[in-house]
Amino acid sequence: MTVVDLGVPSLGPADPAPTDGPLVDTFGRIATDLRVSLTDRCNLRCTYCMPADGLDWLPGDQLLAPAELIRLLRIAVTRLGITSVRFTGGEPLVAKNLDDIVAATAALRPRPEITLTTNGIGLARRAAKLKDAGLDRINVSLDTVDAARFSRITRRDRLSDVLEGLAAAKAAGLDPVKVNAVLDPETGLDDAVQLLRFCIDHGYQLRIIEQMPLDADHQWQRGRAVSADDILAALRRHFDLTPNTEPRGSAPAELWRVDGDRGLVGVIASVSHAFCSACDRTRLTADGQVRNCLFAQQETDLRHLMRTGADDDGLAAAWRAAMWAKAAGHGINDPGFVQPDRPMSAIGG
Ligand code: SAM
Ligand code: SF4
Repeated sequence: MTVVDLGVPSLGPADPAPTDGPLVDTFGRIATDLRVSLTDRCNLRCTYCMPADGLDWLPGDQLLAPAELIRLLRIAVTRLGITSVRFTGGEPLVAKNLDDIVAATAALRPRPEITLTTNGIGLARRAAKLKDAGLDRINVSLDTVDAARFSRITRRDRLSDVLEGLAAAKAAGLDPVKVNAVLDPETGLDDAVQLLRFCIDHGYQLRIIEQMPLDADHQWQRGRAVSADDILAALRRHFDLTPNTEPRGSAPAELWRVDGDRGLVGVIASVSHAFCSACDRTRLTADGQVRNCLFAQQETDLRHLMRTGADDDGLAAAWRAAMWAKAAGHGINDPGFVQPDRPMSAIGG
C-alpha cells in the first residue's frame, strides 16, 4: 500500500455519498481543482507519454460538444464548489473552441481561476488572445533546452516554437509562467541544471515532475525514472537551494528558493513522496468521464448521463458519487499496482 496517512474513514464507499455540497470523499478530502482534458490528440509524441505512431484517437461523436462541456463546467462551479479549472489534454491548443471555452468559464460565478497546461506549440500567436479570453496562468511543458535532446524526447523538431510560446506567454502577462519538466532517464539531471538556469534567466518558474506509470506503451520502470532526491542532489551541485517557507497547502510541488532570491524551483515527487493525502483534484476527460484520480480504474460516464436526459441534479449527484469513492492513495508503490488502461494523454495531466 502506498503510505498515505489519512486515518480510518468514519464512512466508507458503501455509505451513500452526500446529496448536496462539495465533492468530498470518505477521507474528508474536498476536491476544488478541476482538470479538464479538451482532446486526446497531440502534435508531439513525448516518449514517456505517447507511442511514436500516436494512438487511436477518440471518435468525434464521443467527445463532449462545447455546449455539453460548458454545462458540466457550470455544474462544477455553481453546485460542486470547484474554484479552479485547468484545461489540458492531449494538447489543448489543438482543441477546437479553446478561446470560447475559456471565455465561457470566465463568465461563471463565482469566477474560477483558469489555467492551461500546454506543450507551447502555437502558443506564440495565441497567448494574448487567451489572456483576453480570461486565462489567468499557464504551464508550458519543456523537458530540455537542448534542441537535439528535445527532438529525441518529443520525436519532433519544435524546440524553437516552444521557446517562442513561452516568451509570448510572459509578454501577455500570464504570470508566473511555469515550465513543467519530466526528466529523461539518460540526460535528465544535466537537462534539469540547464533548464533551471534558463528559467531563472527568463523569469519562468521551473517545476520538475517525477515520471509516472501513465505512458501508453507501459514502459515505465521504477528504477529508471529520475527521483526527486536525485534531482535535488544534482541541482544542489550548481545552485544554493533553501526551502520556501510559504505553506504548501494542496500544491504538489515542494518549492525551493534558488541562490537567495533569484527564483523558485519546484520538485513534484508524485511517486517517491506521494501527496495523495492533500489531493484536491477531480478530472473530466474529453469524452466526458469523471476520474477521481489519475490512477483510477473506474470512471463515471457523465456524457452518457447527459445524452440520456439527466438533469443538473442528476449530473451533480453522479459527480459527487464518483468522488466519494476516491481511494486513499494512487497505489503506485503497492505490490499489486496495475497501471490504468487510459494513458496520460487521454486523461489530462
Ligand atoms: N500536451 C500538454 C503538455 O504536454 O503540457 C498537456 C497534456 S500533458 C499529458 C500534461 C503534463 O503531463 C505535461 O507536463 C507532461 O510533461 C506530463 N506528463 C505526461 N506524461 C507523464 C508521465 N508519464 N509522468 C509524469 N508526467 C507526465
Ligand atoms: Fe503531447 Fe503533452 Fe503527451 Fe507530450 S506530454 S505527447 S505534449 S500530451
